[in-house]
Amino acid sequence: MSRKDTILRAAQRTAKEARNNASRKMKMKDEVSISPHRHCSICWKPVPLERDPPVCNADKCSNSWIKKDKARKRLTIMMYLFPAIAIFFLILNMQQTN
Ligand SMILES: [Zn+2]
Repeated sequence: MSRKDTILRAAQRTAKEARNNASRKMKMKDEVSISPHRHCSICWKPVPLERDPPVCNADKCSNSWIKKDKARKRLTIMMYLFPAIAIFFLILNMQQTN
């Protein structure tokens, strides 16, 4: 066997191995990839993407989501209300000093 043959054979083997590895990786990717979805914001169970509110079917989860939502809305109101009150008193103070 000539040196050229040996090199050629080695190259072919490497190419075959590379192809095999690539196809194995592709297969793994296929197994891992799942359809797009979101998670229940309470227990992190997968739920459909278009689900609103993003909670699963469990009563416990929907109840605590409602509680959380109310708390969040209250916080948003506070965030606007407190600066508004502060500005109101500031204006009141300025008028009294003049
Ligand atoms: Zn849940």
